[in-house]
Amino acid sequence: MQRSLITFTVPVLGLLLLALAGCSKAGSHSHSSSSSDHRFAGEYPIKVVCTTGPVAEMVSRIGGENVHVETLMGPGVDPHLYRPIASDISKLHEADVIYFNGLHLEGRMSDLFVQMARNRATFAVTEGLQLRADKRLREPPEFAGMYDPHVWHDVALWSDCVRDVAATLLKFDPTNADAYQQNLEEYLGELSDLDSYCKEEIAKIPADRRVLITAHDAFGYFGKAYGLEVFGLKGISSEEEIDLQHHETIQKMLIKRGIPAVFVESAIAPRTIEALVEPCRDAGHDLKVGGELYADALGPAGTDDSTYTGMIRHNVRTIVKALSDGSGE
Ligand SMILES: [Zn+2]
Repeated sequence: MQRSLITFTVPVLGLLLLALAGCSKAGSHSHSSSSSDHRFAGEYPIKVVCTTGPVAEMVSRIGGENVHVETLMGPGVDPHLYRPIASDISKLHEADVIYFNGLHLEGRMSDLFVQMARNRATFAVTEGLQLRADKRLREPPEFAGMYDPHVWHDVALWSDCVRDVAATLLKFDPTNADAYQQNLEEYLGELSDLDSYCKEEIAKIPADRRVLITAHDAFGYFGKAYGLEVFGLKGISSEEEIDLQHHETIQKMLIKRGIPAVFVESAIAPRTIEALVEPCRDAGHDLKVGGELYADALGPAGTDDSTYTGMIRHNVRTIVKALSDGSGE
C-alpha cells in the first residue's frame, strides 16, 4: 500500500503538540501518530495488530467484519514483562494499523512503537485520556511520575478509550463510518450495563470488608471506581520486587481488620500471594485465597472469561463471593 510521506513527520508533530499541551509526563507519552494523517487505501479486511486482549476486543467490536485483528499477548501473558518475538515484529510490519494500551503497560515495547509510528497508523488507546489530562488517571507516587496503565478495570474510563479508538477508525476508514458508529453504540451499551453490574455487586460486600489484596497493584482504578480499598504486594509493574516491610504491613492489616481473603492473579505465580496465608493462620486469622483474578490479561480462549465483559464479571463474582462469605472458590 502507498503511504504518504507526511507520516514520517507525524511522531515529531505529536510530541510537539503534547509539549504545547503542557503535559508534564515526559517519558510516558505513547508517541502514537495522529489519526487524521492516515487513510486506509488497501484491501479489506484492514490488518490490525493489538497488544493485549482488551485492546484487541474493542477494535474487533468496533471494526466488525472490516477488520482482521491479531493479538500479540494471549491469556496469562504478563504485558509488563513481554518482549516481542520475531514473528510479532513481522506482524507489526505487515499491519495497516497498530493499537496498544500505552501508559507504559507494554514497558519493553515502547521503542518499537515509536519506530512503528514512523510509517503506519499506531495508536495508544489511552492517549486521549492523557491528552485531555483526564482527572481519573492515577499517578501512584511509587511509579516514578507516570500514570497507572491498568485503566481497563474502570469500565467507564475504558469506555472513553473505546470512543477514542472508534474516532481513529472512523478517520482511518471513513467509507465504513456508519458501520463503525453503529458497532460502537452497541458495544458502549454493553459496557454501560457492565459498569452498573460492577457497582451493584461490589456494594453487596459488607463495607468493612471492601479491601482487595492482590499480587501487584493492578486494581487501583477498579477500587476507585467501585469502592474498594486496594493493596498490591508488588507495585504497578509486576517486574518490581516485593518489599518485605510492605509485605509485613499488609499481613498485620489483614489480621487486625479480619479481611477474609486475598487473591492470586492469572499472570503472576500464586506463591506471591499465598505467602501471606500461613503467617496469618499462625497468628490465628483464617485467611483464604479467594480465587484467581484476571489482572493484566483476559481469560482462556473458549471460556466465558475470554471476553472483556466476561473477564470483568469473573473478577467481580470472585471478589464478592470471597469477601462476602469468607469462603474461597
Ligand atoms: Zn499490571
